[in-house]
Amino acid sequence: MSIPSWVPIREELRGEEPYGAPQIDVPVRLNTNENPYGPSPEAAADIAEAVRQAALELNRYPDREATALREALAGYLGHGLTAAHVWAANGSNEVMQQILQAFGGPGRTVLSFAPTYSMYPEYARNTHTRWVAGRRREDFAIDVPAAVALIEAEQPDVVFLTSPNNPTGTALGADELNAVLKVAPGVVVVDEAYAEFRRAGTPTALELLDEQPRLIVTRTMSKAFALAGGRLGYLAADPAIVDALRIVRLPYHLSAVTQATALGALRHTDELLARVDELRSTRDETSAWLADRGYDVAASDANFVLFGHFTDRHAVWEGLVDRGVLIREVGPDGWLRVSIGTPDEMRAFRTALMEVDPR
Ligand code: PMP
Repeated sequence: MSIPSWVPIREELRGEEPYGAPQIDVPVRLNTNENPYGPSPEAAADIAEAVRQAALELNRYPDREATALREALAGYLGHGLTAAHVWAANGSNEVMQQILQAFGGPGRTVLSFAPTYSMYPEYARNTHTRWVAGRRREDFAIDVPAAVALIEAEQPDVVFLTSPNNPTGTALGADELNAVLKVAPGVVVVDEAYAEFRRAGTPTALELLDEQPRLIVTRTMSKAFALAGGRLGYLAADPAIVDALRIVRLPYHLSAVTQATALGALRHTDELLARVDELRSTRDETSAWLADRGYDVAASDANFVLFGHFTDRHAVWEGLVDRGVLIREVGPDGWLRVSIGTPDEMRAFRTALMEVDPR
């Protein structure tokens, strides 16, 4: 894609590509960390009924504050949180862009640790926020002394930590998070898009919200709730932080249809989350199988696994596509990421990988 020169786009956007994984129509799609299980017919019917009712009032703007939804999300998160602590938008992508609109901007800096989610530099670019990336350790954990030194030197207005991290699956320990919180002068965002998939004993940053007023924890319904198509991301933070975000949000940014959909899904939380345990076991089995075959496997607390090394990862990726299995060519050179699908999908992945890369 190339934007013609007569289009007066901002100079720094010239030559940029729209973000997105390839959407290739193949039988087994394990490339965007979606939940392979859709809502049950009962949950889908309940969501559809909620949307039907909302449709009768589509002549009116929706609840600008999405209060009922924020209350329901606070109830789901627990930890004593209320609607005032919760903010929601169209995917955690929008939540994070709003965070940079409020806390980043010209003359301000956002800092993260690579390899990490590749949208962060794009939110920075879109909001004119300076982007600084430190490096993770070889095992993809945060290098605490290096992180502390970088934060002290750069004085970032926003720090993005990701736990579990995408694309590595690495979770953040309480000690690492506390060390960052101690030196970070601005807001610290822990992106917990995959939190529900974490292994037993891995903490959530929600536990620290009480004592850390500049901590923001973002979540999404896209993964564990199997609602990627519904576009609902949210965060928990001090109510004063939420009020700051309300200044930059567009009025009525969350449509009545989105609010009804998310509320409908939340009524089926137990059912939707029932599959998470299954996906966690399949993840652990997949990691073990890959390790048995001699791959390096990044320890994962998420619904995907990063494995390597390949001298030509693109050839392997392509060989899998040829066999109807789409995974993701992402992260450090030589590694590939596979999202966890159904047992049948993982069988197809294993068969295709053995063919493409016999060992
Ligand atoms: N954060 C991370 C780490 C992600 O991997 C993703 C989705 N791939 C998101 C945020 C955004 O998810 P959504 O906008 O669907 O909530």
